[in-house]
Amino acid sequence: MAVYHADAIVIRSREYAEADRILTIFSREHGKLQVIAKGVRKPKSRQRGGTQLFTYADFLLYQGRNLDTVSQVSPKESFAHLWDDLERTMAATGMAELLDLAVLTGQPQPELFSLTLTFLFLLANYDPLLILSAYALRLLTILGFSPVLEECAECGGRVKGESLYFSPPAGGIVCDLCLENFPGRRLKAGSIAFMNRLLKNELAKLDRLRWPVWMQQEVRETIQSYCEQKLERPLRAWSIGKTLGI
Ligand SMILES: [Zn+2]
Repeated sequence: MAVYHADAIVIRSREYAEADRILTIFSREHGKLQVIAKGVRKPKSRQRGGTQLFTYADFLLYQGRNLDTVSQVSPKESFAHLWDDLERTMAATGMAELLDLAVLTGQPQPELFSLTLTFLFLLANYDPLLILSAYALRLLTILGFSPVLEECAECGGRVKGESLYFSPPAGGIVCDLCLENFPGRRLKAGSIAFMNRLLKNELAKLDRLRWPVWMQQEVRETIQSYCEQKLERPLRAWSIGKTLGI
């Protein structure tokens, strides 16, 4: 039976049968995988720590007929800080949900793997909503859906003014003429400029960004609707976070 290693992050975990868990892991080498961890819910299971949500670990897996099975797991980072407060937990959950929906099973995405790991570490100290927003914009960019934020996404024309329109179907901001065919949500020019910084700033500089509450709401809603448009699926964790005021 073939055995293989996966350097991976647990992005989804659900209970299965008496004491098992079915995990969705995102690995550096193999992309997204669904695996089963048998007996892991028993109190004495040695794999318990390594199979918790968000854990980064080295997995030893053996191929099964349907699901591959976790043979051994050696945790490298448990990201305990993500459970310290609800905002961080929700941000990490939003990242995991987005990643799970955005990638297909078994397709390696090394750049996205590095991005995800880095941003989970950043969640220790940085503003959680800011990290979630920057992560989403950068994930979309890696997947070829970088939003157009500096000119009209449709005609390439100049877009100016205090208020701009972001059209998810067009893939970015649109000018007044293109707005007729590509309806968009209105938001302040400052929010678009801020999204541009979230997308392009060096990571070390993200920590210096400050944004007022109205901008947090505008940016969050714009990114969510754009992600949902591109992925053609609702982001449930993002919506729950919103109702909790996070
Ligand atoms: Zn236009």
